[in-house]
Amino acid sequence: MTASVKTLLEALPYIRDFHGRTVVIKYGGAAMGDEELREGFATDVVLLKYVGLNPVIVHGGGPDITSYMERLGMEVRFVEGVRVSDPETVEVAKMVLLGKVNSDIVSRLNRHGQPAVGLSGEDGSLFEVRPHPNADQVGFVGEVERVDVDVLNHIAEDYIPVVASAGTDRDGNSYNVNADAAAGKVAAALRAYKAIFLTDVPGWLADADDPGSLVSRATASEVAAALDRVSGGMRPKLEACIEAIGGGAQSAHIIDGSKPHSLLLELFTDAGIGTMVTP
Ligand code: ADP
Ligand code: MG
Repeated sequence: MTASVKTLLEALPYIRDFHGRTVVIKYGGAAMGDEELREGFATDVVLLKYVGLNPVIVHGGGPDITSYMERLGMEVRFVEGVRVSDPETVEVAKMVLLGKVNSDIVSRLNRHGQPAVGLSGEDGSLFEVRPHPNADQVGFVGEVERVDVDVLNHIAEDYIPVVASAGTDRDGNSYNVNADAAAGKVAAALRAYKAIFLTDVPGWLADADDPGSLVSRATASEVAAALDRVSGGMRPKLEACIEAIGGGAQSAHIIDGSKPHSLLLELFTDAGIGTMVTP
């Protein structure tokens, strides 16, 4: 048997199992790093839709926001991994997330043959946001308080929804929202089958400085018990995995999006990659 036939046969049980299932994919940072990765991501997601999955994309765009702020001569500051966001920062973040990052993802998916629709937390009242607990230090950073998935369910019938992680509170103030946290909430609210977080490291590392310390499998309660010792960008990802599992997901995965087609490898092959969180 040739290697490619073997690969197709290996994928068959997964394709059968995933048919009609919703998968929330958090996309951001490193997986958006270069043109080849962006194209690879778009073709992977289009393939998922063609084989009968229901992909929902939630994305951030931190590096792009930072580079536009720098071009505008604005000060970029983080407190404990959270971007300090005055109203001007939120304005730029929204413009970059929706006007650039979101529209780039949508147009690539369209071009590869699966029409997509871009939206943010405001559209169809998708997210209701409340201020972050450290609002006095970080400004207009929000937490998703409530997700109304009605609009997503409507769009997902015919299109791939692509959600930018920004939202407003009841009074109409705009906020920056961490995309991992938003993806976890969306996965839970949709009762997604899986949630997959693409990042720039192989997964959750027991020791952040040791690439050999990958935790390949953990239960949600094991993750919860370890959370106090996790910092930086990994923490909201692990919290979001717990959230997705709490909402009924069968598994949540943190994988290296800087490796081409990691999404397909994770979904359709026996090779376990990254970190898998289970109930
Ligand atoms: P993304 O765009 O994927 O959200 P982030 O920078 O927010 O990227 O989060 C990923 C980063 O989290 C990694 O690049 C790494 O520097 C950091 N990190 C902190 N603690 C850990 C850990 N225990 N395991 C893996 N990565 C960690
Ligand atoms: Mg992050």
